[in-house]
Amino acid sequence: MWIEFTIALTTTSIVRRNDEVSAQGTDTAPRPSLIVNELAPILVITPRTVTGVPLSTSKLLILTNGVTPIFPSCHATTVAETTATNNTMMSNTVVVDIFFFLGIQIPIAVNTNPLKIITLGKANTKGSTTLLYVVVMDVSERYVRLCGEVSNFTKAKTGVSFVDAYIGPENLDPEKQSKNRAPEEFVHDIQELVDQVKGDVDTPLRSEHLVGECRSMVVTVEWLNGKDITYADLVQGLFNIPLKRFSESVIDKKIEDLEEALQKYQGTDLRDRVDAFTKEGEISGADLKQLVERDLQTKALEVGNLFQKKVYSLIGTSVTDNGVEYQTVTDTPWSGYNWYQKGFKSLNQFNIDVTFNKNSLQSVIYHEYEHHVSNLWREKYFRESGNLELAVVPLHTGRCVISEGTADTAKEFLGVVEEDPHIEIADALYTLRRMTSINAATMLNAEGKSTEEAIEYMFERGYRTEKSAKGSMGFIGPKMADGRPNFWAPYVFTYFFGRTDFVLPTFNKAVQEDELAKFYQTLYLNPYSGSSVTWRKAFDWLN
Ligand SMILES: [Zn+2]
Repeated sequence: MWIEFTIALTTTSIVRRNDEVSAQGTDTAPRPSLIVNELAPILVITPRTVTGVPLSTSKLLILTNGVTPIFPSCHATTVAETTATNNTMMSNTVVVDIFFFLGIQIPIAVNTNPLKIITLGKANTKGSTTLLYVVVMDVSERYVRLCGEVSNFTKAKTGVSFVDAYIGPENLDPEKQSKNRAPEEFVHDIQELVDQVKGDVDTPLRSEHLVGECRSMVVTVEWLNGKDITYADLVQGLFNIPLKRFSESVIDKKIEDLEEALQKYQGTDLRDRVDAFTKEGEISGADLKQLVERDLQTKALEVGNLFQKKVYSLIGTSVTDNGVEYQTVTDTPWSGYNWYQKGFKSLNQFNIDVTFNKNSLQSVIYHEYEHHVSNLWREKYFRESGNLELAVVPLHTGRCVISEGTADTAKEFLGVVEEDPHIEIADALYTLRRMTSINAATMLNAEGKSTEEAIEYMFERGYRTEKSAKGSMGFIGPKMADGRPNFWAPYVFTYFFGRTDFVLPTFNKAVQEDELAKFYQTLYLNPYSGSSVTWRKAFDWLN
């Protein structure tokens, strides 16, 4: 751990280069310092300022003798004339406030946040040009910390964390980030981070991915902080996709597909046949426990092998896979959840208080396993590159659109053709229900329709039971039972449009052009492709 500071003037050097100043990040450790030995304007820079007001990384304080600033601040544009960079990482050491006064050796406050010296900028002071290093926190780390703050904020507001999985170092764990700052403050920081990303990250896809995630974070916080925002703007702002409602003639067509799939079921009308099918597949309690822990666990192994055979073999490299563990739980607010865990493994939990359909569960495996696979590659890339932002798997960003889209296209990836008519029916029902859920969500959140009207719609058009339609309100309704905003209200759009507007057409094109290997390489070897913001650019080679 060490810090290097260099300040040089074009005219005469006023600062002695103090090359390897060691700093251990503790109070007892030697503190880094600079010795200023001539009279001249000196600069410097910190993520936070002298006065305690957060100073953006894009501003500089120019101080002269004593404490009188020549320029109270010097805007980023000056610094943007960057000519050189020094990517020296100072792990676990941060410069909080650095003041350089004339002729005095100034101790530098350190704490545990890493910083990076990233820029050699120019500041013009009284005719002479001062070249200076700007010290700012590393983009990725700043991003991870802000994700943690947003996560703590969404948890306090809605009970749900913005961070779905975290695989990074302990000191950056979302839980350990501030829970007390005003949302306006971290929104301001996120907006600043966007500027920093644009300036510092020179890989276009990574830069755009990060900027997209930051923008979604801002919308998330502003929305939950009470900003008046339409549902369409919310969906667009979070997921970078437009709000779409399906016409009833499109729904009619899906109902016809369902009717066709159910033709072997006896019954006078479609509802009776759907009910008979649903009843026949119902599973709960001890039977469900056994299905999950035995059959699904076995099936997950098979799906894992299929990924090896059909996908990794084409990619040309493999990834550690410590598998998905299937567990049953009780007393949870959700019916099932996939938790990715550090170390190339996932935990899939099912709440056995809930009644499931055994036929739809067979298809859920593919969806959940693809989430697992995509996180395996993400973790591998994270470990190899050290790009900290990949340690956070956020919800409510452009990432989710592709994540749900690829998960819903896993069967196509694996070339699975269902021979079992039960699963075919379950799939037809799944599609119809996804589409009618989107319409019901739009009714509730954008058209001012009541919960009763939405339930009736899902019952009539989505062929759900009343109980299941009511249960869906917890996912798509604007508010939770206790009146707090429902975090999931806009999420229903990610699955369907992630698949039909992004993943499936690109996949089909890749099949057509015999480019499947490159398709999987782009998808899994470069996690920055996985966002509705970057998807088209990542796959522009295919067009
Ligand atoms: Zn999913």
